[in-house]
Amino acid sequence: MSLHLETPLIESRPLSLATERAVWMKMEALQAPGSFKIRGVGYACQRYAEEGAQRFVSSSGGNAGLAVAYAGRKLGVAVTVVVPETVTERAMHLLRMENAEVIVHGASWQEANAYAMSLLGPKDAFLHPFDDPLLWQGHATLVDEVAESGFRPDAVVLSVGGGGLMCGVAEGLHRNGWQDIPLVCVETEGAASLNAALEAGGPVALESIKSIATSLGAKRVCDKALEWARVHDVRSATVTDADALAACERFLEDHRVLVEPACGASLALAYENAPVLAGFKAPLFVVCGGATASLVQMLEWKRSFA
Ligand SMILES: *Cc1c(COP(=O)(O)O)cnc(C)c1O
Repeated sequence: MSLHLETPLIESRPLSLATERAVWMKMEALQAPGSFKIRGVGYACQRYAEEGAQRFVSSSGGNAGLAVAYAGRKLGVAVTVVVPETVTERAMHLLRMENAEVIVHGASWQEANAYAMSLLGPKDAFLHPFDDPLLWQGHATLVDEVAESGFRPDAVVLSVGGGGLMCGVAEGLHRNGWQDIPLVCVETEGAASLNAALEAGGPVALESIKSIATSLGAKRVCDKALEWARVHDVRSATVTDADALAACERFLEDHRVLVEPACGASLALAYENAPVLAGFKAPLFVVCGGATASLVQMLEWKRSFA
């Protein structure tokens, strides 16, 4: 049994009208912990539990940590999440609701992560938020479900942080014989680590992240993401924070689901009918979701952009 849900595959009338083509959505926002992350995290946690792990350790105060906490509760395995002092009240609340032990340590994620690593004993499994082949295998189930539905998209649009979702979807496309379907990878301008690496033709680490799309805030994408970009048709697009936020607001209006700006980044391409979509008749948008943004927070951001 898997820890993730088979999510709805919906043809969006509002998005289709906005971009003058049939836009399909895979509704990962409806996963119990709020994002697609549970696919890969759930799969990896199950495997680590089978191998005897007695605790899962994460250093993510975002959706990856939430997915680990959820998986641990479901599997009856203890979870420790180490988060930096910058952690939001909301993240703390969500993690505690899943019964995770939350340790606040360090001023930045680097310090929290180093501390999490120092805690690891022989019976602990560390769950990386995006760079683990088990994670990618789990994320790939998203494409399996689309293939089973009988619908064949002519592009897949998804948001990229560290590239775990991208690697999983690429793997899923290949294992379903869909290696010819292009990937449109979307980032916000202040978190465009994949875009920078593709332009440089090799690994690049951003100096800093300057985006409200915190779930996309990996300074460097995993090597596997760049490997996929060499063998698969990968197109990169960027949007502004304001565009991502506006897309969240329109999506809430259109589909009554609140998603993070990390997800709004992808949706913005449809709402703007971005040139990168030209030529596609039936793109599939991964509505990756995200539980960390509240409506109050979104309204505050909106005011700050006004
Ligand atoms: C983690 C996450 C992403 C980015 O996924 P990566 O695997 O890091 O590229 C995008 N959107 C949401 C909501 C996320 O939680």
